[in-house]
Amino acid sequence: GAAILTFFMVFQALGSLCSPWSPPRVGPLPPAPTMVRISKPKTFQAYLDDCHRRYSCAHCRAHLANHDDLISKSFQGSQGRAYLFNSVVNVGCGPAEERVLLTGLHAVADIHCESCKTTLGWKYEQAFESSQKYKEGKYIIELNHMIKDNGWD
Ligand SMILES: [Zn+2]
Repeated sequence: GAAILTFFMVFQALGSLCSPWSPPRVGPLPPAPTMVRISKPKTFQAYLDDCHRRYSCAHCRAHLANHDDLISKSFQGSQGRAYLFNSVVNVGCGPAEERVLLTGLHAVADIHCESCKTTLGWKYEQAFESSQKYKEGKYIIELNHMIKDNGWD
């Protein structure tokens, strides 16, 4: 009888080492990825980097452009000084039309603040003189529609 018992115990020990008969381990399931609903109040369409000097809409404070994207300050708008920018945000574009400006014929489109709809300036869609080509795709915002925002001092 002892021999059979020993055999049985060895068999059991082996079984616990590699046990094809043991039931699948039941434990707590890993947490399922939960859907996170981000419900931040939508004020403006885009926000510029907080650590940059930037220009904002003077009427509603929507961010408009980074100081880094300023190309030139020596432009003339319909109501005074205007700045030329590489890129802008929160700005909508009207239909392009051909206009004769101080520097010749251009195709331009009025731009407005997406947030408060104020007309801010215009976008150069196309320049017809080679010396003015650098302005294509760039944006003019009149100074009286902008305020300096964040980190200027
Ligand atoms: Zn605005």
